[in-house]
Amino acid sequence: MAEMLFERVALIGIGLIGSSLARVLRRDSPKTHIVACARRVETLDAVRRLKIADETTDDPVAAVRGADLVVLATPLSAYAGLATRIAPALKPGAIVTDVGSVKEAVIRDVAPALPKGVHFVPGHPVAGTEHSGPEAGFAEMFHDRWCILTPLPGGDPLALAKVKALWELAQMKVVEMPAEHHDRVLAVTSHLPHLIAYTIVGTASALGDDLKSEVIAYSAGGFRDFTRIAASDPVMWRDIFMNNREAVLDILQRFSEDLTALQRAIRRGEGDTLEKRFTETRAIRRSIIEAKQA
Ligand code: NAP
Repeated sequence: MAEMLFERVALIGIGLIGSSLARVLRRDSPKTHIVACARRVETLDAVRRLKIADETTDDPVAAVRGADLVVLATPLSAYAGLATRIAPALKPGAIVTDVGSVKEAVIRDVAPALPKGVHFVPGHPVAGTEHSGPEAGFAEMFHDRWCILTPLPGGDPLALAKVKALWELAQMKVVEMPAEHHDRVLAVTSHLPHLIAYTIVGTASALGDDLKSEVIAYSAGGFRDFTRIAASDPVMWRDIFMNNREAVLDILQRFSEDLTALQRAIRRGEGDTLEKRFTETRAIRRSIIEAKQA
């Protein structure tokens, strides 16, 4: 089944995620014809050099012609415009999926633009690194990670099964949930941590020069781990916060309240409160390791 899952796949956006998926298809479905689409000449040159696609183009309309699977893998802010542009060129029966880190906004932006007879299966492979671009991709990135699909009510079951099979080919564990639930969960597990990392690294970089050089020298004390997260792509993360506003603001409010509680405990010298909280959080780290997600 793997070999013939899709005959022609168009990857619109061929950066970290798109190129990793291209590598999976190259590895496990070598007969699939891969068309890669990006805007910049450098990106398309890199794709040709890496030999991860059969065709490259900067024209999304040309890319999707004849494709039985189209994968949107650009930053979220490009999705609406791309969906409108490619819609007339999509083959009847084609499947459109995406890899966006927010799901309600993607459904809002993409679903209305697609013609009848084209099946939309929104998805999010929860895997990645802080790097961008086609050189940064690797097929093993998806291995043993979760892929969340947020199918539309009344959507085509065969299209859903095929997108599920695609991510299983990438060795992901596939789960389905409503888009709204996805966005709330990811606000906690991904979006808030990135916001905190961007804030801490920003605070450190605003320090005086002496202190700043010491922060870099002694970064192994914890700061270094935040800098890795805060090195993530600025455009991608701008788009995530612009598109998951409510869920992020909600979890940020809770976080602020918890931070204030810890601040109070420190001020009042309530060591027991701190120790209790830190013991609870240590248990969470252990359960992530046990679930092989560390
Ligand atoms: P990336 O490495 O920056 O790659 C983005 C790609 O999109 C590049 O090939 C870029 O081409 C292309 N692109 C941008 N605007 C375009 C447009 N208007 N038309 C055609 N191509 C366009 O980004 P990424 O990390 O792969 O992220 C892509 C998507 O995956 C995002 O929606 C993100 O939410 C989601 N995601 C990311 C991660 C992660 O950890 N990075 C994890 C899961 C999901 P040019 O170079 O020509 O601009």
